[in-house]
Order: sequence, then C-alpha cells, then structure tokens
Amino acid sequence: LKASFSLVQYENEEMNGLITVLSDVTEQEKVERERREFVANVSHELRTPLTTMRSYLEALTDGAWQDKEIAPRFLDVTQNETERMIRLVNDLLKLSKMDNKDFTLHSELVDFGKFYHHVIDRFEMNKDTHIQFMRDIPEESIWVYMDKDKMTQVMDNIISNAIKYSPEGGTITFRGKMLKKEQKLLVTITDQGMGIPKDNVDKIFDRFYRVDKARTRKLGGTGLGLAISKEMVEAHKGEIWAESKEGKGTTILFTLPFTNDKRRDNA
Ligand code: ADP
Repeated sequence: LKASFSLVQYENEEMNGLITVLSDVTEQEKVERERREFVANVSHELRTPLTTMRSYLEALTDGAWQDKEIAPRFLDVTQNETERMIRLVNDLLKLSKMDNKDFTLHSELVDFGKFYHHVIDRFEMNKDTHIQFMRDIPEESIWVYMDKDKMTQVMDNIISNAIKYSPEGGTITFRGKMLKKEQKLLVTITDQGMGIPKDNVDKIFDRFYRVDKARTRKLGGTGLGLAISKEMVEAHKGEIWAESKEGKGTTILFTLPFTNDKRRDNA
C-alpha cells in the first residue's frame, strides 16, 4: 500500500488541509516483478540450448567433423537443441497472443465424449510403452461449445505429461463427468507417476515452473505447456487444477460449461 500526501492551502482562508491518497501498489509491483522474472526466464531458457550448440559446433569445427563416429552424434545434439528452441519460441508466441487477447476462439458445438475418445485414440495408437489406458466417459452426448483445436492442445499437454511421468506398466485413467447442477463437465486425467510435492501442486500452471528442472528439460519440456492450457481453459470459461500425492500419482482436472442445446440433425 502506498500513501501520498499533499498539503492543500486555501486562498484567503485560515484552514489548511492534508489530502491523503492511499493506492494499492502491491498488485502493480507484483505484475512488474512477474514481468521481470519472465524475461529472465526466457533469456535463461534460450541461452541453455544456445550455449550447448555453441560448444558442439566448436568441437565440430575443431576437427570432430572428420570423425565418422562423433560427427553424427554431435550434429544430432545441435538438431535436438534447435527443435527445443523452436518449441519454446512457438509456446512463447502462443502465450503472448493470449496475453494480448490477440486470438479468437473458433468455437463450435462439439459432442465432448466423441472428441475425448478421439484424442485418447490418437495417443493409444502411438504409444510405444507399456502404459494402460482406462476410460470412464459417459455414453450420452455432452454438448460443449468450444474451439476444438485449442482444446486438443490442452488435452495433448495433459496427456503427454501423464505419459511422460508414468511408470512402466502404469495406468492412465480418463474420466468425464457431468455436474448437472453446475451445468459443467468435469474432465479428469489420472496417472500413477511420481506425483508432485504438496507445496508445488498449484505452481505447475505457472510459466516455466518445473518440479525438477534438469529432469524435465531432458524429457524435452518447455515448462509452458500447462500455463498455456490454463489460459485456454479459462478462455472457455472453465477452470483447471491438479491434485497429487507424491509417489502415488497425479490428477489434472478441468471443467467446461456444457449446453443443453442439441445439434440439429439435417436428416
Ligand atoms: P513441461 O514442458 O516441463 O512438461 P508443463 O507446463 O507441461 O511443462 O508442466 C510443468 C511441470 O509440472 C513439469 O515440469 C512437471 O514437473 C510437473 N508435472 C506436470 N504434469 C505432471 C504429472 N502428470 N506428473 C508429475 N509432474 C507433472
């Protein structure tokens, strides 16, 4: 809280006054601090792959390019780092668009159950590990007015994390539930992974937050996936949060308003 004082003197009058203005600068300072932290984080995140690339390129220039064994490996590293930077910059652009409200939702009426199964099917086809998928999704139609592309990104972020942090042989459970009184759909995705320490659970939606920086960087993450998901869910008037038990697993939950309107059949 900031207080500013001004002394007021009235002409030809005996009375003097003091005006006190109390303004809340804590919010303003918080925004400013977050902005500075964000810039520092971006710089750090970009510097890490760039310095890695520099040393590998230096080694190649210094003669490693002639080594048939080493050269392809070093080039591979520089390629991976480049891919990481592209992912990072793309994520940053997405966030910046959302911050500037420079995006439109291309919403349409979607039968969420069908959409949910379709998204899970894609992962089930591609997964090469021994992770089980379990589905508990209502069969009745749940009509949600939403931007399919954006919600696909949200689901992709959540599901790829669930897979990344799942132990071999673990189960990922996909649930959907209609909260009829609130007119909301509740979607939950539960894994049996390492979980997140209690104090950090809410922070995972912060930009660049990672529970274990070194480990998740190795897994290719940018630390922005859930921050983007949160913005997108909120743009749909939903909420997103997490529940987790260390050593037991994590559940990511989000809500979306559903509508009772039925899509008109042309038949
Ligand atoms: P990242 O690109 O690092 O995965 P996210 O924004 O998607 O970034 O996630 C932020 C952090 O939250 C992750 O680095 C990880 O520490 C933690 N996290 C997210 N999902 C899970 C999960 N299912 N189990 C354990 N930790 C998770």
